[in-house]
Amino acid sequence: MQNFKSVAIIGAGPAGLAAAETLSRSGLDVVVYDRMPSPARKFLMAGRSGLNLTHAEPLERFVTRYGAAQSWMEPLIRRFPPEALRGWAEELGQPCFAGSSGRVFPQAMKASPLLRAWLARLDTQGVRFALRHRWCGWNEGGALTFTTPEGRACYHHDAVLLALGGSSWARLGSDGAWSALLPPDATVAFAPSNCGFLTALPAEFHAQFHGEVLNSVVLHGAGVKARGDVTITRQGIEGAPVYRLSSTWRETIARSGSLCVAVDLRPGLDEESLVQRLDKTRARETLSNRLRRLGLSAPARWLLREAMNGQGAGVPRVQGAEQSEPFSDARRLAVLIKSCPLVLTGTDALDRAISTAGGVRREALDDGLMLRALPGVFVAGEMLDWEAPTGGYLLQACFATGRAAAEGAMRWLAEERGHKGATKESNERGQQAV
Ligand SMILES: Cc1cc2nc3c(=O)[nH]c(=O)nc-3n(C[C@H](O)[C@H](O)[C@H](O)COP(=O)(O)OP(=O)(O)OC[C@H]3O[C@@H](n4cnc5c(N)ncnc54)[C@H](O)[C@@H]3O)c2cc1C
Repeated sequence: MQNFKSVAIIGAGPAGLAAAETLSRSGLDVVVYDRMPSPARKFLMAGRSGLNLTHAEPLERFVTRYGAAQSWMEPLIRRFPPEALRGWAEELGQPCFAGSSGRVFPQAMKASPLLRAWLARLDTQGVRFALRHRWCGWNEGGALTFTTPEGRACYHHDAVLLALGGSSWARLGSDGAWSALLPPDATVAFAPSNCGFLTALPAEFHAQFHGEVLNSVVLHGAGVKARGDVTITRQGIEGAPVYRLSSTWRETIARSGSLCVAVDLRPGLDEESLVQRLDKTRARETLSNRLRRLGLSAPARWLLREAMNGQGAGVPRVQGAEQSEPFSDARRLAVLIKSCPLVLTGTDALDRAISTAGGVRREALDDGLMLRALPGVFVAGEMLDWEAPTGGYLLQACFATGRAAAEGAMRWLAEERGHKGATKESNERGQQAV
């Protein structure tokens, strides 16, 4: 029997790898299991559009991004703050920069060079990987059970750290199936976060314009607003400003069934300037041309027409629209351009969301992120019930909770020396994993 303890980390995303780094550095024997053939697939996907590692805003502001979870997330972020994450990436040979918005990226923008250097470091620290291992729970003897291409496998470890991710983009590994393996009162249902929304617009609109972008518009609704590019999808809308408002909008729709938001299609011009420009046009000029000259794209023009005509399920008819010919009144048109109504009927599919809310409740954990109901089992990353907007807050929290759970496991193992832990029996059997 070895004289050092073994820890199973299940989930090779950023939270699991951050935990593996911390645990292996302290001399523990670490095996990382993952159901996929290679580690950190979502992390690599995050790097496709520029890996936004963290954010450079002052820490006081940074921690407010976790909303209802701030009270318990803040101490964890303070233990591994944004500068530490940036320093860590730089140590791995990936210098970072902060963009004009404060978002921090590695200069390479991609995740792959960082991941390669990180995996090499883990290798030198003795971390072993057991890939294509889907965790299925525990057997009667307390061993972790997995399905593998070779069949069922069972392994014992002294402690377990679960970092199985949320419940979106299942094709990258995190399918949320783990929630059925934990005590029901330890979890709350998943909800999409940083997600798209479905609209009440006719299917014809989405069929014609999906993939097109409403550039630099301002969205207002339920007391919050955001500016940016909104992408039209096959059934709704998505994009950075939609994601930013998504938790408030999701909650409002859950309460009220739907939400009418307003789109400022031309934020660069105020209503008065729009009226003047619309009035200046030649008498015979078609409406489409006038709107085109205002820089309004085909989907924006379609939305305006829809709002004026009050067509499309759920779009409120604009007052007075029936009395005058649509678009003949410059003032009315300008008002609509500044505040075009759009009815949202629900969130887009959970699997399409950038991240998920819900998962393991904070109350089910102790201060070391150990499940109270399952001593020796620790939880980290997106599987915990917190949410935050995009902007680097997601990865920062995954790294910080991965490290915190690893520290929790180290403290517990030190205290439990000699005591049989969650997965009992010997280290040797754990080492048969790879
Ligand atoms: C398109 C996209 C872009 C993103 N961009 C950014 C960004 O720029 N910045 C940012 O901060 N965040 C971004 N995110 C979010 C970020 O990638 C996630 O929050 C983060 O990867 C979550 O880390 P995690 O380690 O908790 O879980 P994951 O990365 O989801 O890893 C969980 C791991 O657990 C494994 N697993 C799950 N179930 C089992 C099982 N039963 N048995 C064995 N293994 C299992 C999975 O295969 C997976 O490897 C993006 C997300 C997406 C989808």
